[in-house]
Amino acid sequence: MKSINPYTGELLEEFAEFTEKQVESAIQSGQNAFFSWREMPISQRAELMKKAGQVLRDNVNKYGEIISLEMGKVITESRSEVEKCAWVCEYYAEKAAEMLADAPISLPDGKKAKVVYNPLGIVLAVMPWNFPFWQVFRFAAPNLTAGNVGLLKHASNVPQCALAIEEVFTKAGFPEGVFQTLLVGSDKVANIIAHPDVKAATLTGSEKAGQIIAAQAGEQIKKTVLELGGSDPFIVLKDADVKEAAKVAAKGRMINFGQSCIAAKRFIIEEAIYDEFVINFKSAIESYSPGDPLDENAGYACMARPDLAMELYEQVEASIQKGAEVILEGIKPEEGKAFFKPYILGNLSSEMPAYREELFGPVASVFKVKDETEAIAIANDSDFGLGASLWTKDPEKADQLSRKIESGAVFINSMVASNPYLPFGGIKKSGYGRELAENGIKEFMNVKTVYIG
Ligand code: NDP
Repeated sequence: MKSINPYTGELLEEFAEFTEKQVESAIQSGQNAFFSWREMPISQRAELMKKAGQVLRDNVNKYGEIISLEMGKVITESRSEVEKCAWVCEYYAEKAAEMLADAPISLPDGKKAKVVYNPLGIVLAVMPWNFPFWQVFRFAAPNLTAGNVGLLKHASNVPQCALAIEEVFTKAGFPEGVFQTLLVGSDKVANIIAHPDVKAATLTGSEKAGQIIAAQAGEQIKKTVLELGGSDPFIVLKDADVKEAAKVAAKGRMINFGQSCIAAKRFIIEEAIYDEFVINFKSAIESYSPGDPLDENAGYACMARPDLAMELYEQVEASIQKGAEVILEGIKPEEGKAFFKPYILGNLSSEMPAYREELFGPVASVFKVKDETEAIAIANDSDFGLGASLWTKDPEKADQLSRKIESGAVFINSMVASNPYLPFGGIKKSGYGRELAENGIKEFMNVKTVYIG
């Protein structure tokens, strides 16, 4: 498995893929660890999770650099990502015991019952490269604190991140086997899911990988959580603070160089303020300057892999061929290079990739609509349903419209962002299940009813 700096193309390090025997032995080790891990008082598991948070905070620069070098994110964002991972560890260290406390139920006949939460065992996490630390900690912090054990199959282009994450838990003092990285390709996942000791799987990634993993787990009657793509709408109504909306819209589209499932992707603007929005939005996007991922002042660096840059360009090109207006022009990536420049496209129609597909990179699709009814109709005319951002100064309207938007989250006068306190996940082809908050920690628990006769 190759760790390649996508900005320079330099091969940083190469790793041998795990053999079948190594995978089997990791599963055995995870299963052995589970028997004692689940018996450990939750307060002790929480203490270890807090220490994992501390290890992350103590090594922000080191881990930030690994992220930037391996997937091309600018260093300032990589460091923030590591700090956010520390936050989610600390959040669950503090809150997990309360979230998983026994829940008594009084029955009408005077009898008593309760719900107790038991961990399931080994959970396989198939994770992506875009937030190579955050996506993993979003899974690991709740699940390990709850008493499950984790096996990580990370994206093949971020093996150094995968190993660094395992190191965080080792340094924090977690018992052997509680969290392990498997260096394996996607062709090995089916057998791991089918292993009797692996009890569930979670995936963050593409729709295609979601279909495959859900089918494999379905065959084994094993639970999955799927966090897939998104084509999030960013709706600006005419009574909104247009300048602020445009500034936040640019940030929402440019964060992680657009390679985020919850990045705003379709900007749906009421016609009365369309021109003002577009002028401000364009200049805000143009204010991001390119540079080396390790440059403190770079606004962006490159896409995570050359093939991702080319795939995105092909979506742009196909949309332009079909009549999309080029509001801001980027460039065609060079063959084998991951550099890309942002685009803004307008005048979109439903047969264009920029209308229909997820654009996983810095390309914004802008729509002019006559009123809020049309805005909601376009927002919902998508196979995806992850997040949505809605801009209006009218709180009642915000409340009514947020209920009509088909998505797992609506952020009013703000960009969509994940936060340990808020449930995170989608509907439609964005997946199912929730991560983070109380909902997230309960996904891979046995919700056990105990009735006292
Ligand atoms: P993938 O979905 O292919 O990769 C995500 C993870 O799934 C990786 O660990 C990958 O492993 C694994 N995977 C892929 N195919 C299978 C399979 N058949 N069985 C088991 N595991 C599998 O994403 P890509 O890297 O190819 O990115 C393509 C697109 O996916 C993006 O353009 C974007 O639309 C979407 N995506 C969405 C993300 C999100 O946050 N929701 C994150 C990343 C991508 P391996 O690397 O070894 O192939």
